Amino acid sequence: MPIRVIVKRDVCIGCGVAPALCPDIFILEDGRNRILDRFSVETNDNISVGKLPEDMLDCIENAVTSCPVGGRYILREDLVSSLTLACDM
Ligand code: SF4
Repeated sequence: MPIRVIVKRDVCIGCGVAPALCPDIFILEDGRNRILDRFSVETNDNISVGKLPEDMLDCIENAVTSCPVGGRYILREDLVSSLTLACDM
């Protein structure tokens, strides 16, 4: 099942951890993290929303838990409890 990831660009402080951990998914642009075009379904000044294959879950979870400001949310439509926990970060 695809994974939906939301980068809250208005919260991101551009520390660079996410792109360093997952260079195939994230990139810093204008000092804030965003999802690479090939996975992005929407990116603007405030958010970057991506739809990614499930085999990228480990890397994404690592980046989410390493984010100093909880700037990213990870949503899995098949795991509502994980969605709720992630959104509480
Ligand atoms: S880890 Fe968080 S603060 Fe750092 S670049 Fe990624 S989203 Fe931004």
